[in-house]
Amino acid sequence: MKILITGGCGFIGSNFIRYMLDKYHDYRIFNLDKLTYAGKGDNLKDKESNRRYKFIQGDICDAKIVDKIIPNCEIIVNFAAESHVDRSILYPDDFVRTNVFGTHVLLEAAKRHNVSRYIQIGTDEVYGSILSGSFTEKSQLSPNSPYSATKASADLLARSYFVTHNLPVIITRSSNNYGPYQYPEKAIPLFITNLLEGKKVPLYGDGLNVRDWLYVLDNCAAIDLVIHKGKIGEVYNIGGGSEVTNLRLTRLILKKMGKGKEFINYVTDRLGHDRRYSLNCDKIKKIGFRPRYDFNKALDFTVLWYENNKSWWKKLKK
Ligand code: NAD
Repeated sequence: MKILITGGCGFIGSNFIRYMLDKYHDYRIFNLDKLTYAGKGDNLKDKESNRRYKFIQGDICDAKIVDKIIPNCEIIVNFAAESHVDRSILYPDDFVRTNVFGTHVLLEAAKRHNVSRYIQIGTDEVYGSILSGSFTEKSQLSPNSPYSATKASADLLARSYFVTHNLPVIITRSSNNYGPYQYPEKAIPLFITNLLEGKKVPLYGDGLNVRDWLYVLDNCAAIDLVIHKGKIGEVYNIGGGSEVTNLRLTRLILKKMGKGKEFINYVTDRLGHDRRYSLNCDKIKKIGFRPRYDFNKALDFTVLWYENNKSWWKKLKK
């Protein structure tokens, strides 16, 4: 099996490539990544010499490079995206370009070359906010940030290629991931690394926004399952079953790192900040998914990883 992973030098993509190379010894992985500020070649340093792994630096918006790689691949998993909500509020252009136009380029190439699966990696943020209950895959899309609006657009484009062109598309929508190799602008690695540097952690608004947390290796296992057992044309929600307020998450991290509440810096709320995300994951459970990682223990491991890998994140925070 030959798989094209786009955005494989980012947080989830690099964890996924490592997971797949370690699990399937007869799979070959092609990683197409532009290496934006968020993509780091050294996220996969340990796999550089693996003969089943090939890195190609390039942009998913570049149809020529995409066309050169896709004929070698049976499956495409599109992780490549601009992924930080705060940046999308300030600088939305790259989000529209990569998340929407880039997805369009990949879908067109997938159609031309008859791939056997096209997996679009989406997010729970496309559903918007829900105060009680949980979103199913059939819930209306109500994205509230430029980031989530471009991700919803990508999902809809991908769906249209399934309906119109019979392209074998499957979409996953996961909740917030955490774990090793996450760029230290996202909440969990930002908080951990700030505390390691003796700095305060910025908490938006009243801190009562709720997020569901999914350990990155659980997401990798779920995407693997979707590739092999998912039904073409379907959407699968992937959640960790660990909903907490941002305030509770912050207190947990402070406690694990031996710091008090004086290390919290309450800052003006993010514009358009969604209050709560929550996913109903019955559909992916039916094909066999259960999150394996306990939130508390995986958070302990995550703290330890950033403690032990200071050289990895220190250069990113300069
Ligand atoms: P990330 O920002 O860590 O990595 C994105 C990667 O894409 C980087 O390696 C970057 O260099 C690459 N990239 C960006 N633009 C590109 C382009 N034009 N061409 C080729 N490569 C490009 O993101 P992540 O957190 O790993 O997220 C991966 C995917 O998962 C994204 O699609 C994101 O929307 C989705 N997602 C993330 C989360 C989360 O909590 N991190 C949750 C749900 C869904």
